Amino acid sequence: MLPPETQLRRRDTLGTGFRPHTLLLGQFPSSATMDGKTHGIRWCWTASPGLRLGLVKRLRLSSSLRREGKKRERHKQRHREERQANSARIVHDAVQHCSHRTRSSTPATIIEHASEESVCWPVLSRFLPDSYDLFMSVAPLSSNVLSFEGARRLVEEHASLVKPNEAESVDLLQAAGRVLANPVLADRDIPPFPRSTRDGFAVRSVDVSKVPATLQVIGEIKAGQEPETIPSSLGDKQTVSIMTGAPVPPGADAVVMVEYSSLRGDQVEITRSAKAGENIVPRGAEAQEGSRLISRGMNLNDAAIALAASAGKSRLQVYRRRTVAIITTGDEIVDVESTPGLTQIRNSNSYSLAVQIRAAGGEPRILPIAPDEPQRLRSLIEEGLKSDLLLLTGGVSMGRYDLVEQVLSEMHAEFFFTGAKIQPGRPVVFGRCRSGKTTGDDSTREQAATYFFGLPGNPVSTMVTFELFARPMLEALVGMEPRALMFVHARLRSEIRVKPGLKRFLPAILSGKFEQSQVELVPWQGSGDIAATVRANCYIVIPEDRDHIPAGEFVAIMMR
Ligand code: AMP
Ligand code: MG
Repeated sequence: MLPPETQLRRRDTLGTGFRPHTLLLGQFPSSATMDGKTHGIRWCWTASPGLRLGLVKRLRLSSSLRREGKKRERHKQRHREERQANSARIVHDAVQHCSHRTRSSTPATIIEHASEESVCWPVLSRFLPDSYDLFMSVAPLSSNVLSFEGARRLVEEHASLVKPNEAESVDLLQAAGRVLANPVLADRDIPPFPRSTRDGFAVRSVDVSKVPATLQVIGEIKAGQEPETIPSSLGDKQTVSIMTGAPVPPGADAVVMVEYSSLRGDQVEITRSAKAGENIVPRGAEAQEGSRLISRGMNLNDAAIALAASAGKSRLQVYRRRTVAIITTGDEIVDVESTPGLTQIRNSNSYSLAVQIRAAGGEPRILPIAPDEPQRLRSLIEEGLKSDLLLLTGGVSMGRYDLVEQVLSEMHAEFFFTGAKIQPGRPVVFGRCRSGKTTGDDSTREQAATYFFGLPGNPVSTMVTFELFARPMLEALVGMEPRALMFVHARLRSEIRVKPGLKRFLPAILSGKFEQSQVELVPWQGSGDIAATVRANCYIVIPEDRDHIPAGEFVAIMMR
């Protein structure tokens, strides 16, 4: 039985999540403490979602209530029998839905289960209108299943709130793939002189407005030439031979390509006219001294590293990496080194995630495989929450042994969504949970909350949901400026037929040559088919309202 005194907690101190299966309890005791006071509880039970629950008005056991005495007791007794009958029916119904933890056919056993742990509190927590201290009406889980865009937007909103780590200084090449923490400024104008972009002849454009024109060659300027040896000006009908990357001399305002010239002694015939400015990049046109070349928050790619090099930066300030804990769940999952039994499979998700995490600038931390057992799962989650981000795979679907949401609920996690209308990856979960680690100094010390994603266990679902949801959060944590998710388009090679209602991201092959690229689905056995995904180089994005896309139509694709 439940202990006579049960600690009730108010909504704001409880997590907002609940899970669909194990929310089954019997009666609560007739008294309980809430906010340090003892209260009478008339009647209370929970059941699985979808069952609307009667319940409970909390009565404060004030002295006036006590004085009501026997009259009240008689009244309660009369209704108790009535409610018990009602309770038995609800509990019976709930048994049909409940998880293995409360598998039982009699209310009595269920009540015993209730005494084991306060599994019901998360579900109580979200439905406490202020007018009632305790009132339950369990909504179906689907209320937390968002459209793809809605779920993505929510992640982006949370991502915009996180702060990056502190900065560290690294060698220029080590900075590739990292996120810039301090802007890079131009140490001088770029280019530092008017630069010829062609091999040819530096001219005054007026001298070649009519062609052919014959000019006198008064010298040659090569790239890197000492400034003192460069002619100080060009006179009428004069020119200098000039090389790509060399400074254009004063007086010249265009460069004619060598292809449009023929040299005879010190005379050159120009056969094509040039407009002022042609083939010259003016001094400072690319960047002016002191201006910002690379902004904070940029993921440093080849071009950014090149630009930093051109500004003389042999070291760069980048944000420290973030650690991302990976927990994979499932009794059937074994380590990669193991020889699996017939019904076991090797862990692959931890590895695909580790690769994706690295590519997004994080440091993966693979934790041991969690069995489908709440105690061990909980201790691994507690460990994982010490990282900057926690990714779980598996255990978030509707199966009896999918315990991730339940355990997180028991840890009073906040859930922002518990599903997205996508395929693969529908059961994806996003939330935040206090981790036990602290932030701030003594005066502002508070328990840090760590974001987590519960990614569905099917390997393709894990990969896709990381890309769609976990990646933007990780990018924000490593300091990257947010960027919109963009899809490119390609022509569909063979028609697609699907059931509408979900936005689909299906493995596909983009092939063809040059502008003739086309895309088609990879035949696959569903979201467990890693081999099909290895053959794929992109995902076709199918809008939720389409059931047929004919060959030849342009479809959105997400590269992988
Ligand atoms: P679940 O989301 O736990 O219901 O798992 C869905 C499917 O994904 C099941 O077939 C699991 O065996 C499989 N699965 C779960 N975790 C992994 C993993 N780490 N590596 C490979 N497959 C997995
Ligand atoms: Mg599982």
